[in-house]
Amino acid sequence: MTRKIFLHEKDIPKKWYNIAADLPTSLLPPLTPDGKPIGPEMLAPVFPMNLIEQEVSTERWIDIPEEILDILYQWRPAPLRRAERLERHLGTPAKIYYKDESTSPPGSHKPNTAIAQAWYNKQFGIERLTTETGAGQWGSALAFACKLVGLECKVFMVRISFDQKPFRKLMMQVWGANCVASPSPETNAGRAILEKMPDTPGSLGIAISEAIEQAVTDSSGKTRYSLGSVLNHVLLHQSIIGLEAKAQLKSVGEKLPDVVIGCAGGGSNFAGLAFPFTADKINGADMEIIPVEPTACPTLTRGPFAYDFGDTACTTPLLAMYTLGHAFVPPPIHAGGLRYHGMAPLVCQCVVEGLHTPRAIDQVECYEAALTWAKTEGFICAPETSHAIACAIQEANKAKEEGKEKVILFNYSGHGLMDLTGYDNFISGKLVPYALPDEELQKTEECLKDYPRAEKRKTGKW
Ligand SMILES: *Cc1c(COP(=O)(O)O)cnc(C)c1O
Repeated sequence: MTRKIFLHEKDIPKKWYNIAADLPTSLLPPLTPDGKPIGPEMLAPVFPMNLIEQEVSTERWIDIPEEILDILYQWRPAPLRRAERLERHLGTPAKIYYKDESTSPPGSHKPNTAIAQAWYNKQFGIERLTTETGAGQWGSALAFACKLVGLECKVFMVRISFDQKPFRKLMMQVWGANCVASPSPETNAGRAILEKMPDTPGSLGIAISEAIEQAVTDSSGKTRYSLGSVLNHVLLHQSIIGLEAKAQLKSVGEKLPDVVIGCAGGGSNFAGLAFPFTADKINGADMEIIPVEPTACPTLTRGPFAYDFGDTACTTPLLAMYTLGHAFVPPPIHAGGLRYHGMAPLVCQCVVEGLHTPRAIDQVECYEAALTWAKTEGFICAPETSHAIACAIQEANKAKEEGKEKVILFNYSGHGLMDLTGYDNFISGKLVPYALPDEELQKTEECLKDYPRAEKRKTGKW
């Protein structure tokens, strides 16, 4: 048995896979709040044109520039591992493989797109990127990428995390980024909020508004904004995960997996692993492909499919997606990441088609899975990643009941060495089971009622 499956550097994928070429039904177009389609030129103050081209592309394969590969080699190809100790612990006949994205310098899958985005911006003549970050995973990935590519990086970090989670802020500073607490006195959006609520803990929505404002108001035209998930081009850059995993499984003589799993916040690490396999499912392969979300933020499993803003401040175009509403505030008793109200439109369309079958798992079961993982495999996973592990355990137990030697593949999106406070809360008994109450979903309906309807279009094949 091989427990660590490596791909030689020369065999790294040289092209990204774009599922937009193979979707049985195309995406609904992004709209303005009054229902008009958004043209590429309307996005130009926010993103560079080369990334906007990728955002709307329907080419199946897009070349990865040599200079981007040159940086990705720093930790890619990432290992595929066999969770043999967990298998033994569960007594399952299933084989559990996981793609280890925790091996990047910032510790998650996020640099796969951060490097690509920084490089395309640099190529377009941009000198500075702005972004927002909550707990700091994305901010640290972009800080790292900007340093290696040669761009300035400005991160608006939600105030409460800035104060309570100093370590990722310090990582950003080590990589030379300018990280400020949001709301900040540097933008109109920030000043307006500070005037009304000087002691606000901040929010991701406010931080997004600040980051976009600073990009579009730079009169030199050399600043753009960068987003770490949800958008088509982000999912494109992450497809390298699934392409590598496919080659690695093949190299040890495995067939296509029976089950493919990833945790889903905005959908990027899940899609990165799942889309290259979804292509096989579209072409007839029998596979269960599962995005996993928390019962506290059940976007895919309980949210309506609707047009909604990507951000709380209603500055982005309207996207057709499963959503809990842009005003959704996750309950404070919930610990993990994966709190985003919406989901990547490409993932949503796969769910509408029945190609992906989402599942929600409670945070207590997820932390139990994380501890089982640490006590068998040894690694300490990110709280987000624990959702994928909990689902893999459910599937391995099901395979045991059925007596089937299934192949289970999941994405190990990141390590949890900067997130030990969540483990502390769990171990000391502060975390309780939490499912979003039905009343909260009525608020979702209310929040969305004034925007265009999104039609669920599907072929009915799956
Ligand atoms: C950001 C993050 C996620 C959630 O984001 P997606 O876009 O859904 O992948 C999951 N796991 C880790 C480790 C993260 O840092």
